[in-house]
Amino acid sequence: MMIANISRKKLPQNLVSAGISPTASIFFSLIALPLGLTAPVLALEVQFNPASPRLGDTISVIVNTENSPSANNIQVTVGKETYPAYQTAPGRFRAFIPTTPLESPGRRVVQVTDGQTTRNKAIFVGNRNFPVQRINLPPGKAGVRATELELRRAREFRAVRSPERFWNGPFIAPSTARRSTPYGVRRYYNGVFAKDYYHRGLDYAGASGSPVVSPAPGRIVLVGRVAEGFRVHGNVVGIDHGQGVASIMMHLKDISVREGDFVQAGQQVGTIGSTGASTGPHLHWGLYVNGKSVDPDVWLKTGVE
Ligand SMILES: [Zn+2]
Repeated sequence: MMIANISRKKLPQNLVSAGISPTASIFFSLIALPLGLTAPVLALEVQFNPASPRLGDTISVIVNTENSPSANNIQVTVGKETYPAYQTAPGRFRAFIPTTPLESPGRRVVQVTDGQTTRNKAIFVGNRNFPVQRINLPPGKAGVRATELELRRAREFRAVRSPERFWNGPFIAPSTARRSTPYGVRRYYNGVFAKDYYHRGLDYAGASGSPVVSPAPGRIVLVGRVAEGFRVHGNVVGIDHGQGVASIMMHLKDISVREGDFVQAGQQVGTIGSTGASTGPHLHWGLYVNGKSVDPDVWLKTGVE
């Protein structure tokens, strides 16, 4: 049937002029058809969004399992890291791969498996020039050190993975104040590049006592105070938005929520302060995806599903 539909006028000229018989030409042109028309449909279709990410972006790995209806345990792996995939619709799963300024740009191979079928698909992560700050500290002054308690609580905050997705659509800014320090800034201390440092969030330079709201719905999973030992974070609130996405609000003056509370987007969680390692009133908002601080910008502008 397909052969009958192929007009001989459309046969590749190079085959015809090479003296290959019309029958042979039809045979060759069938082979040359785009794979999608003749190959069996793949059990796992994998797409990336954005298709051309840059460092700091959140990569959505979208897996279509319509042709593999038994697939319900999708695993997404890059190198040694495995990322949880959540069902977003019938026959559709999504995992988030966070990227950060600490990584090298370039090609990664994303492995997607349902336990039976495995697909490997490459993605290229582009470079991005982050702003640089040069900090000069007097000799012997190393700055404030985090306590064991706040390190442990911060680790636990980054490890939270809840299966529900609480957000829907774009996030809202947690403060109406002017943004002071952008995401991803790198630093030199006394002329030495701090290779493990990048600014893990956005700063808002608001007046002390001005409101800090939740950028999206979520569960309060962390409330910490200076008095308990949060020397670096200061008074801090952590919000779990679900599916590995979470916000941390640092250097707060007051806190108006408790652990376990559920908050809506726009609901106040505290006020701007200068507690912890801070040199003036500001909010530090960190957006974490699967434990890594990503650029919140696209989450604010268009949203990430
Ligand atoms: Zn900050």
